[in-house]
Amino acid sequence: MKYKSRTTGPSHSFIWKNILLGSNICSKAIAWTPTRGRIINVWHHRWIPNTPALRTILQGPLNQGEDHLTVSSLWNDTSWDWNLGEWDIPYWSCNSNGIFTTKSVYGILNLNPNITFPFTWIWKLHTIEKHEVFLWLCAHGRLPTRTYLHLIGFDIDPLCPVCSLAHETIEHVFLACYIAKKIWLDLGIHISHLLHHNDELHWLLLLSQLVFPENNTIYSWKDLLPFALWHIWINRNHNVKTDFPSPILIRNRTIEYIQWFLPPLGFYKLNTDGSFSKNKGIGGIGGIIRNSSGGWMVGFHNQTHCHSHTMSEIEAFLAGLHIAFTHNLFPLEVETDSLEILQFLEDSPPTYSSIIMSCRSMLKKLGNPMVRHNFRQANMVADVLSKICAKLTMTNQPHILLSPPEAVKDYLKADLGGVLSNKLIL
Ligand SMILES: [Zn+2]
Repeated sequence: MKYKSRTTGPSHSFIWKNILLGSNICSKAIAWTPTRGRIINVWHHRWIPNTPALRTILQGPLNQGEDHLTVSSLWNDTSWDWNLGEWDIPYWSCNSNGIFTTKSVYGILNLNPNITFPFTWIWKLHTIEKHEVFLWLCAHGRLPTRTYLHLIGFDIDPLCPVCSLAHETIEHVFLACYIAKKIWLDLGIHISHLLHHNDELHWLLLLSQLVFPENNTIYSWKDLLPFALWHIWINRNHNVKTDFPSPILIRNRTIEYIQWFLPPLGFYKLNTDGSFSKNKGIGGIGGIIRNSSGGWMVGFHNQTHCHSHTMSEIEAFLAGLHIAFTHNLFPLEVETDSLEILQFLEDSPPTYSSIIMSCRSMLKKLGNPMVRHNFRQANMVADVLSKICAKLTMTNQPHILLSPPEAVKDYLKADLGGVLSNKLIL
């Protein structure tokens, strides 16, 4: 509000331009709680609940001087009591409690047809959160390249430290630098036409719209893209630190064959998975325990209130261990497609320490079974169970499934038939 009446010009900084842009958005959502009414303009401020500024709904000219009329000048000694405080108080009208939230700003922006969000697909990729955030920084030009650091005031040469042929912009790192070119070539991705793209089209959008060159139904281009960009960035960081830049090529990339395996004779196998919808803020957990012939012993799923995909994965894992214990289904093997869970069980993460302690305690009760990672393609039954619970009522305990629901039957057959999937490992 402080900057509302200021202007911007071409010479102003990026930060200043964005402060003013934000203030325009704020002014649309700020409303006023009158106390003395000396600040609130009768015509141009929103001060009547659920009503836009009066000037926007009244037609025709105002009388001379009326444009500056404040609410206090409407003061009538007999009907209104203004003696509530010193100042009129602004409040955020987009939330019923008057408190500002970034979510409500997105709500306002969504109403404006001129504002689009071309990068929301990033948050829907099947990838880890670290890669999503990394892509978001790529999309918004906020990776700490030499050019970016130079722009924001660091005393640093903007030239590419790897090839010294051009300024190190994000496009240079990912498309033009010879190291990036070699990596794309190695992956069989043709990007030469993107090198001279129209500046109005974002390089990452163009890249995301490429068609994956191999006829592969196991992973899509959007599955591979975050890994490829991450690989290039890691390469860049490695080369900045070494005197002899060289690409870490993916020529020897491995195709790993993925399969669900039966547990050893006399053992049971637990597979768990978690899902999460950022939009709804609701997650799903799912899991299955099979015997050494691959027979269905018990399945489970439930909705869960959680704040991240990782949390839903851990909740599914813990629920599966509980169910194995209460149904006496051990000795046990456990499989998850979450590498984070395996890492958390080794270390002591600050964020999930309480629930990881519960997992360790359950594992101990179950005789410390082997916990393995397997890829999503070999964890599809649990994956589907975690996703088909959207219509279920959320309960304290997971819904127990004593026989397989229709949605997972094909995946069960595929697991039993030893169907192979393949995956590119970078
Ligand atoms: Zn370069």
